[in-house]
Amino acid sequence: MKLLHECKGATRIGISGHIRPDGDCISSCLAIYGYLKKYMPKNSYIKVYLEKPAAVFSELKGFEDIVTDFPEEESFDVFFIMDCSIERIGEAQKYAQTAKKRINIDHHISNSGTGDVNYVKPQVGSASELVYDLIVTDGGEEALDKELAKIIYTGMIHDTGVFQYSNTNQKTMETGGKLVAYGFDFPRLIEETFYQRTYLQTQVLGRALMESIRFMNGTCIVSCMEKKHMDFYGATSQDLDGIVNQLRNIKGVHCAIFMYEIGNLEYKVSMRSDEIVNVAEVAGYFGGGGHMRAAGCTMQGTFHDCVNNLSKHIEEQLLQNGAI
Ligand code: AMP
Ligand code: MN
Ligand code: MN
Repeated sequence: MKLLHECKGATRIGISGHIRPDGDCISSCLAIYGYLKKYMPKNSYIKVYLEKPAAVFSELKGFEDIVTDFPEEESFDVFFIMDCSIERIGEAQKYAQTAKKRINIDHHISNSGTGDVNYVKPQVGSASELVYDLIVTDGGEEALDKELAKIIYTGMIHDTGVFQYSNTNQKTMETGGKLVAYGFDFPRLIEETFYQRTYLQTQVLGRALMESIRFMNGTCIVSCMEKKHMDFYGATSQDLDGIVNQLRNIKGVHCAIFMYEIGNLEYKVSMRSDEIVNVAEVAGYFGGGGHMRAAGCTMQGTFHDCVNNLSKHIEEQLLQNGAI
């Protein structure tokens, strides 16, 4: 796929990604935005629509331009769906539905391609790396600049856990290497957007860890945060990012589940695993998706119903792989 070729003649271009946008989602949107702003005709109307992104990303170029209130718009010539399939872009669906052409750029195994043009590569660690590949295919390394490099690098570190998760390979690291050559302060970027937690975030993390429950012989662990406790701390969903990874770090755990209440008897579920459990498959049964070792879904029922339903599928895989 050639980005500028696909946008040829377009004067109205929209960009969106999944609800509750993470670092890769925000970065892949801003990278496409920055690139098109630079290379499309100056009078083009180009907008990014996302749910309110976390403030730690505010130093990325274009962050201030993100539209978070989804106003009525005339139809777009081209609409980009980043880091997810079309069903997961929330309110931005109204733009995608009426657009003349939808372009879906994603790396989720559960996405079979939901645009008119699809660039879906499940073997690639982040949607931001896909944008890097597309920009370089279009215009070579010269098409990038320091700001674009910093945006893409941010997305990559978020989805690969700073080049540590199994979705990292030689090419991921080589791309990371080329990006840091642009000279932005990458240690600070990693520290401030990935590792640093506010005091509030540390408190809710502590609570979630304290209240976690192991089951199936210590191979699984679950923790849940109720709405009333989120309200007590003043925590939003953005403050809960990273809890599930901490649960997954526990010795002996093959599958970690973190859930938080998003409505009456409704939970957002995050799962992380190792090579023993394919959580994308588990999330898929409940209408969600993701990657083999990091996936999510939304579930209805009580906490116990949800855990029971999830554990049936997890147990099957643990048994199959001889882990229990
Ligand atoms: P999370 O647990 O929200 O950090 O998500 C882990 C991975 O699964 C990310 O790549 C998400 O994009 C993906 N994911 C989370 N929830 C869903 C869902 N409801 N449907 C499809 N993919 C999801
Ligand atoms: Mn994402
Ligand atoms: Mn991603």
